[in-house]
Amino acid sequence: MRTFAIVNFGCQMNEYESEKFREVFYDFGLSEVSNIEEADIVLFNSCAVREKSEQKLISSVGYARSLYEKFGRPYVIVTGCVASIREKRIKEVARDSLLVLSKGYELIYERVEELRNELSKYLKQSSSERISEGGGVFAYVPVIFGCNSFCTYCIVPATKGREKSRPLEDIIEEVKNLVNSGVKEIVLLGQNINHYGYDFGNKNGFIELLEAVSRVPNLKRLRYLTPHPAYFTKELIKRMRQVEILMPHFHLPVQSGSNKILSLMKREYTQEQYLGIIETIKEEFPEAAITTDIIVGFPQETDRDFLETVELVKTVRFDKSFIAAYSKRPNTPAATMDGQIDTKVKKERLNYLLKVQNEISLEKNKTYIGKTYDVLVENVRENIAFGRIPQDKLVIFDNSSEVRPGDLVNVLITDADFIHLKGKR
Ligand code: SAH
Ligand code: SF4
Repeated sequence: MRTFAIVNFGCQMNEYESEKFREVFYDFGLSEVSNIEEADIVLFNSCAVREKSEQKLISSVGYARSLYEKFGRPYVIVTGCVASIREKRIKEVARDSLLVLSKGYELIYERVEELRNELSKYLKQSSSERISEGGGVFAYVPVIFGCNSFCTYCIVPATKGREKSRPLEDIIEEVKNLVNSGVKEIVLLGQNINHYGYDFGNKNGFIELLEAVSRVPNLKRLRYLTPHPAYFTKELIKRMRQVEILMPHFHLPVQSGSNKILSLMKREYTQEQYLGIIETIKEEFPEAAITTDIIVGFPQETDRDFLETVELVKTVRFDKSFIAAYSKRPNTPAATMDGQIDTKVKKERLNYLLKVQNEISLEKNKTYIGKTYDVLVENVRENIAFGRIPQDKLVIFDNSSEVRPGDLVNVLITDADFIHLKGKR
């Protein structure tokens, strides 16, 4: 198995972003090492706030490059704001071992996607030993393309067009093939996935899709991303309870806790409606993990609006939140709204909310300690194994009993931090 290291230069925002990148590496079945001498791939995440970190970055990239010349590794990836400001200089230092994920550096989601694409290209090119045995354990299957909502911050409707659902037969066929090739878990994808089938005139399309996919023989786990809260009904949640292999994890992007901001965002629900959905989920699926996406610093967001978001996070107690500072996307209504928020204020709000969320995540993860969960093993490296519990939390455990990717095993959770669980068999 291949290894990666992440080196951070800079602020807390970078730390947070690096967590997102870390998850991508894990998804590709790489395991983390703490120094770059042992890594096959190193990712430098940079910050240009202080000049010192810029120089440190350049000299570290130079060092990594010298290792690459001697040993053929590590492959160097540089991202973050220095990468975008000093792309030319970094390219000189790092030459062909490099990739700079520089575009739209404020928007972590795009860079995570870019990292995914680049990693899959790089790992395909260079793998004599297929690294990602774990890669065959779960698979993503798109079910609906485009988006019919017009959230005012979002570039998706302009770039991906109107919603178009794939025919159910095609999806089932693809899932069957994947399962026959060894896949155990399917993650269905769509920007507004609970609109699946609306374009065929079927308002129950999404739940019927879940039911149909769940009947594919030998499929062990089913997940989906991303539902829109405005169309996430009580009936849907209740009917989900009957889908046996559907995993107890709800990712429901709330974006803001303030009704004023939700309306400016055109999210089509209120704070009260969102909380109502969460209540139903908690009643029907008391064991479920609940995660969300949040944007802070949307135009016209006052301290009071922001504090309503903080309150909502404390009320729901999300297992995890993907929190982003609002960033202007070209040709979106929010980009030209009055009342744009200062970068400094956005960062302060982001850091504050991260702190609140991380504490909650830690407390929540600790409640798993002492219990035993079904873990779908994704990767194994020497005597350490990685896998996920039904709630989608990553567990790292000692592999003295020699499990293999694709195995479903019982793991006792023995420890937790705000990101992972640790366990033993
Ligand atoms: N279709 C999904 C996800 C869309 S993009 C949904 O409706 O929620 C994923 C996340 O990126 C969003 O949930 C949002 O939190 C974030 N995002 C999108 N555009 C953004 C912008 N302009 N600035 C900051 N965050 C943004
Ligand atoms: Fe569509 Fe999601 Fe973008 Fe809203 S945030 S426009 S629902 S993709």
